[in-house]
Amino acid sequence: MKQTKALDHIRQQAAGLFLNPLQRSVRTVLDGLRLSVADIHAAQARLQRFAPLLQMLFPELQPAAGLIESPLMAIPRMQDRLEKKATLGGRCWLKCDHALPVAGSVKARGGIYEVLCRTEALAIELGLLADTGDYTTLNRPAVRKQFARHTMAVGSTGNLGLSIGIMARALGFNAVVHMSADARTWKKQLLKMHGVTVIEHDSDYSAAVRAGRQMAADDPSIYFVDDENSAHLFLGYSVAGPRLKKQLKQAGITVDADHPLFVYLPCGVGGAPGGIAFGIKAVFGDAAHCFFAEPVQAPAVTLAMLHSFEHYPTVYEFGLSIDTEADGLAVGCASRLAGDMMRPLVSGCFTVTDNALFDHLYHLQQTENIAVEPSAAAGFNGPHLICNSPSGRAYLKRHALDGRLEQATHLIWSTGGGLLPPEVFAGYMAAGRI
Ligand SMILES: *Cc1c(COP(=O)(O)O)cnc(C)c1O
Repeated sequence: MKQTKALDHIRQQAAGLFLNPLQRSVRTVLDGLRLSVADIHAAQARLQRFAPLLQMLFPELQPAAGLIESPLMAIPRMQDRLEKKATLGGRCWLKCDHALPVAGSVKARGGIYEVLCRTEALAIELGLLADTGDYTTLNRPAVRKQFARHTMAVGSTGNLGLSIGIMARALGFNAVVHMSADARTWKKQLLKMHGVTVIEHDSDYSAAVRAGRQMAADDPSIYFVDDENSAHLFLGYSVAGPRLKKQLKQAGITVDADHPLFVYLPCGVGGAPGGIAFGIKAVFGDAAHCFFAEPVQAPAVTLAMLHSFEHYPTVYEFGLSIDTEADGLAVGCASRLAGDMMRPLVSGCFTVTDNALFDHLYHLQQTENIAVEPSAAAGFNGPHLICNSPSGRAYLKRHALDGRLEQATHLIWSTGGGLLPPEVFAGYMAAGRI
């Protein structure tokens, strides 16, 4: 699709698949990026250092020895349902980040990782870490007393606040979450239950982030997690790549030039899908094809991609108003850091209507008994768009994949819903049943 035609499409709030003309072969671009494969390894090592402490703070992490990870699941019944529309080449799998422990969303990767980065830096600065390198000593009352003089702050539509807030409080820090008007009531209540200070803003996500950033700038005891520009968040997400490689291997799934892996990632500012895609591309190279999914009302990264990731327009400039039930994706402008990283790596973006989100949410529960929040259902249009739309077919042809679809894996990334109160989920099901 030509740029002007694509932008018209977006103005009309029509769902569609948009390819990235700047995508390059991974080998040729990896060394020129702002963040490197060594950074992914460093993030893995840091999470490993904290694992014994996390296991102590959250008993639910004991089976995984302190690592926060989610299952990979086959979803044959949901695939049957998707194929009622048209057949798909290949098999559909679900990456269950809605079931990530501690925070119940994909933000348990990036958000918690950044809290741990700050904790480690502060512990070193204050001389609180034992020479033995045993991080469980950070749970001593004397250390927690020192942490209590410090604050972790973040702007959030909900899930990022939950991951930062829950982890910061578990370590003994104060936590402040600046929430946009899109934030759901139950997420605010849950934060307050964890002892987090919630500041409600009657404005959109970017404005809530700005307010938080400003407050932290005036006070050195406040550390601000900047979702629009954080390398820590990005790298926390990227660890999913090497971990997924192990899971796919255990499931007997081959990924190579003859067995392509398509990944469909719900996208807000681009940090979570960007970090995950970076980790996946670092591991699988050109055999992996990553697509971002956004609401038709909030296609922030799609717009940045259609402007070559040089200009980052707001969705308002295209007559949109972020009017979506997908609160996790309800952002008006993309992250530049994520955009810089994704310019040569992302295969494309697609947009989905809220009706489609609720339809997928409903059928995922009916077929596989899996409960997710609306944002987390954004990836399910992906397999059809790749296999059966004109843009998807053009992509397959360009990458010489049209004859290899039968051996393909479609990995739909489910990103949130683990902490959903049953009555809220029941409301979503009612909306999807229609
Ligand atoms: C935050 C979020 C995303 C997207 O992450 P970004 O970093 O904003 O792109 C996707 N799904 C859910 C449920 C989220 O909370």
